[in-house]
Amino acid sequence: MSRELTQVAPGVWTATAETWTSLTTVVVADDGACLIVDPGITVAEVAGLADEIRARGWHVEAAFATHAHWDHVLWSARLGDVPRWATPAAAEAQALSRDADLTQADATAPGHDHDLVGCLTALPEGAVAVPWSGPRALVVAHHAHAPGHAALVLPDSGVLVAGDMLSDVEIPLLDMDARDPVGDYLDGLHRLEVAVMRYAVTAVVPGHGHVAGPRELARRFVVDRVYLRALVEGLDAGDLRLAEPWLAQAHVDQLRVVRALSPE
Ligand SMILES: [Zn+2]
Repeated sequence: MSRELTQVAPGVWTATAETWTSLTTVVVADDGACLIVDPGITVAEVAGLADEIRARGWHVEAAFATHAHWDHVLWSARLGDVPRWATPAAAEAQALSRDADLTQADATAPGHDHDLVGCLTALPEGAVAVPWSGPRALVVAHHAHAPGHAALVLPDSGVLVAGDMLSDVEIPLLDMDARDPVGDYLDGLHRLEVAVMRYAVTAVVPGHGHVAGPRELARRFVVDRVYLRALVEGLDAGDLRLAEPWLAQAHVDQLRVVRALSPE
């Protein structure tokens, strides 16, 4: 079963997975070479992406994992043996969480070839772009949400591939193991906002949720900062995204962690 691709800008396509409205991005060069970001969740989805790419006469040249969480590091043999880049910090984190990632993948998206889960290649230290032959994909690294999380900016098409940030359906989810999870998150938002202005970004692709244009992108920066402010102050954020039970629970967990970290 092929996966449906939607064009969000010239040479930039997305596919939506059933689990958590996860978004895959495919950047396509003029010669059909593809860079895949976060390939999908189920075995059928990831294989279907490979089928769709082949049906369109494209070919996979490289991949990029925005961060090391299990739902962003899945793969299919049908996509081929290509480098799957990530920041050095994300590649290191993935190696450490490999057993837990396999357990979670088996529970939520059973059937993946364990040998292909993870297997990230660290970008060269200080790399500013993903090494591949297609349109520039600049790396915006930070530590919000997960160690070594990175967004990609595609300056030629004005697209920001944000990973697990700037979602319309998920609240900011902190890296709870970090020493300063809220500070890291605010720093990540700042870096993304600087990139949006510098490269005149007009569309954002979040890791989960929906693609958005400039007005909605600006709104997401605001509501995420409002949420984080309320979290720190222990106030009710009134965030509509908390209607989802698992996110309401994540919010309670985050409140507990932030309270424990803040000095009395
Ligand atoms: Zn994540």
